[in-house]
Amino acid sequence: MSSNATIPNFIAGNWVRSAAADALPISDPATGECLGHTPLSGRAEVDAAVQAAVRAFPGWRATPAVERARVLFHLKALLEQHQDDLARSLTREHGKVLAESHGEIQRGIENVEHACGIPSLMMGDTLEDIARGIDCETVRQPLGVFAVITPYNFPVMIPLWFWPYAVATGNTVVVKPSEQDPLTHQRIVDLATEAGLPPGVLNVVHGSRDAVTAILEHPDIKGVSFVGSSQTARLVYATAAESGKRVQALGGAKNHMIVLPDADLDATTDAVVSSVYGSTGQRCLAGSVILGVGEAYRPIKERLLERAAALRLGHGLDHGVDMGPVISAKHRERVTRFIGQGEREGAALLLDGRSARVPRYPEGHWVGPTVLEHVTPDMPVGREEIFGPVAGLARAASLDQALDLVHRNQYGNAISLFTTSGRAAREFRYRAGISMIGINLGVVAPMAFFPFGGSRGSFYGDLKAQGRDAIAFYTDQRVIISRW
Ligand code: NAD
Repeated sequence: MSSNATIPNFIAGNWVRSAAADALPISDPATGECLGHTPLSGRAEVDAAVQAAVRAFPGWRATPAVERARVLFHLKALLEQHQDDLARSLTREHGKVLAESHGEIQRGIENVEHACGIPSLMMGDTLEDIARGIDCETVRQPLGVFAVITPYNFPVMIPLWFWPYAVATGNTVVVKPSEQDPLTHQRIVDLATEAGLPPGVLNVVHGSRDAVTAILEHPDIKGVSFVGSSQTARLVYATAAESGKRVQALGGAKNHMIVLPDADLDATTDAVVSSVYGSTGQRCLAGSVILGVGEAYRPIKERLLERAAALRLGHGLDHGVDMGPVISAKHRERVTRFIGQGEREGAALLLDGRSARVPRYPEGHWVGPTVLEHVTPDMPVGREEIFGPVAGLARAASLDQALDLVHRNQYGNAISLFTTSGRAAREFRYRAGISMIGINLGVVAPMAFFPFGGSRGSFYGDLKAQGRDAIAFYTDQRVIISRW
């Protein structure tokens, strides 16, 4: 695609040019090279996509579950066949290193794989003789058109958290990808068509705020799956619910990692470093505050510093690179502002990534690994989501005190404990009060057959992404009671 090209929407099985007057550039965050433009589609285009999905629904719903599953089996095979190309494309538009892109695509494929089980996953229950001669059964039925709205940080995996389940259960879908890196997903839409997904079952409309507003207010959309910052998640939840839609809205995070004195320090350091700096900190599961309990504080601080300082920054496609750029100049500015503010408010800056540069790529949005010490829950750097390669260190006297510090935070996505004590681990999982709990693990990422999502300010809704929740979210249980 030429760098001036504006990417098309996908409506009723055709790639169509958006009528939008405005478009945003998509660029390689390591080089600044323009890769294309995202059109800022509006209400009319959203409506065209929804109408295509409405028309496709009756035929797709009537397609036997086993045939719908076959399309997904075919899609899984195509994704595997094209995984290398998809991973390179993902690294170019997002910046993450190639191994991380492969990991992301693999996680996406696993959701397609899980959705292939739909003939069993979608089964209902029956009970004879709920009263004399009366039988009762439940069936799960699709609802119609769902919308899927996704963020920039996993532009392949997160759409695949949702639409494979929505179409597997017999619904039709309109996807609104992130405007910052929508290119690799375009290729996946082509693969879905090649796999046999009929026209109108999956539609894509590009844009940002206006397209989202049009989706949330559209009367023919039955439900919305959303992932993004908490601020947008709250807005999406309230607006979509106002018009009677089902909503699952996954938001931002501030994840804490607690290290007890009896932890295996080598394994803990590996886990902490990869959690904080993997994907340049742009993960909702990234560790952000490390709470060293008692004597654990000093050794974990020293090891973290040594390892963080040795991480190599560069283009994600180049050999030997540990960490890519952040997504944009604007985001770089935001992350560096947090670091400066932390220092001004009394945190000690032990490792400063603000002046990091990669000489071969002077236009890249670089932020080096950063470590701040004496971070408190009241400082923005200790309280808010930074979404960059920044570790905040704090000391706690006990597991109790560490949990108190955690619970002062508004978010509740993931939390980790590092220990060799079963008793402490049991106490921790009982009292953590946060949805995704890691014990001796830094990135608490549930696989496709388990639910993914947080609590408190990190999640609005009740049914989460993936797992059995996905089947429940995209279907209604109908109860049939009969007497003959
Ligand atoms: P974002 O909220 O800026 O954008 C997400 C989506 O919402 C995009 O499609 C965007 O076009 C749209 N959008 C943005 N502002 C809007 C507005 N005012 N009105 C309507 N729509 C709007 O998020 P992002 O920067 O793309 O992604 C990063 C965020 O996503 C982080 O906060 C991260 O923690 C979160 N995230 C959460 C999870 C999770 O599982 N909880 C997973 C991945 C990312």
